[in-house]
Amino acid sequence: MAVDRLLPTDEARDLIQLTRDVADKILTPIVDEHEKSETYPGGVFATLGQAGLLSLPYPEEWGGGGQPYEVYLQVLEEIAARWAAVAVAVSVHSLACHPLMTFGTDEQKQQWLPDMLGGTTIGAYSLSESQAGSDAAALACRAATTDDGYVVNGAKAWITHGGIADFYNLFARTGEGSRGISCFLVPKDTKGLTFGKPEEKMGLHAVPTTSAHYDDAFVPSERRIGTEGQGLQIAFSALDSGRLGIAAVAVGLAQAALDEAVAYAQERTAFGKKIIDHQGLGFLLADMAAAVDSARATYVDAARRRDAGLPYSRNASVAKLVATDAAMKVTTDAVQVLGGYGYTRDFRVERYMREAKITQIFEGTNQIQRLVISRSLAVK
Ligand SMILES: Cc1cc2nc3c(=O)[nH]c(=O)nc-3n(C[C@H](O)[C@H](O)[C@H](O)COP(=O)(O)OP(=O)(O)OC[C@H]3O[C@@H](n4cnc5c(N)ncnc54)[C@H](O)[C@@H]3O)c2cc1C
Repeated sequence: MAVDRLLPTDEARDLIQLTRDVADKILTPIVDEHEKSETYPGGVFATLGQAGLLSLPYPEEWGGGGQPYEVYLQVLEEIAARWAAVAVAVSVHSLACHPLMTFGTDEQKQQWLPDMLGGTTIGAYSLSESQAGSDAAALACRAATTDDGYVVNGAKAWITHGGIADFYNLFARTGEGSRGISCFLVPKDTKGLTFGKPEEKMGLHAVPTTSAHYDDAFVPSERRIGTEGQGLQIAFSALDSGRLGIAAVAVGLAQAALDEAVAYAQERTAFGKKIIDHQGLGFLLADMAAAVDSARATYVDAARRRDAGLPYSRNASVAKLVATDAAMKVTTDAVQVLGGYGYTRDFRVERYMREAKITQIFEGTNQIQRLVISRSLAVK
């Protein structure tokens, strides 16, 4: 059942409708096949770009959609309800545009942003390393200064869209400590940059996650975003926005699982009546609906703070924590509602449950979200 959304403008309502139409036409018919065969749906991103759905929260001046973040997130939720892997990649692309938009010079923006926001070039975000995930400041990949740029050596891990994306937000060490990290915008065809084979993941099979290896890869100075040493600040600023994207993806997954569970519970009979009419199961569905609605309200509230120019870092962490834990519980309960059938690949709830798990892990695990929230409580 389509979610009855409270949207700020007629334009936003049209946008949601457009998203539903495009997603029903190009995502729903092929999602199962691609997730099973683990094949990348290349054309999907081109179509989403042409529909203007890859750059919604960015200013029109630079080729973006000029939409409030609360609208962008609800669009993302609609995509995630059809295909979480595509929604995650869209969210990561948006995350990858953030450093240039927020910390780039006008010259850099003029050069690269229109293609990035128009969807001609797709982006990836590469902060994590095999030994530096939650503790991002421990990263070791190094960018050594030369006359006209940097020579990069080291390896990055877990890159969503790795090997496929056209540009990579690289966070690499140019000095020591947490203030010795810088941000670069590295094109895929950079000499000395290669990608590992895709990780064999529990879910999100259609979009690859790979490592990247830099072997004396030259990156010119004009591709450094922000000042030298500003990298971690840039990375964390982007993640505040990105976490809201993951919260929206999680709500999309949870909504899809709820819809499937409700539909099944109205068809399936046991002990002479529909299973939804057994109060024990009806109440389970009610709790699932309450979790979905409250998770959505949490991310919309955080997005409105962002749209109003208010601090929202803590709210983004709360939204990510609440929404992704809700997605894990709701998708698991959806499998329960479908009984034995829920445990088979004949029904999508099995996939939703596998996909929900990653939302509790990437862009800061939920332990790290609690760390952010508890620190914000302690600071006066
Ligand atoms: C499918 C997938 C896609 C990803 N995409 C990207 C991407 O596009 N770009 C990117 O840069 N990264 C990406 N990541 C990496 C992801 O962000 C990291 O896996 C995540 O941040 C956790 O880091 P880690 O795996 O090294 O776990 P660790 O940091 O080793 O953590 C292990 C466990 O210890 C806990 N822990 C660690 N520190 C603390 C603490 N201080 N207090 C309490 N508990 C703690 C963690 O919560 C976790 O449970 C992706 C990962 C996956 C699996």
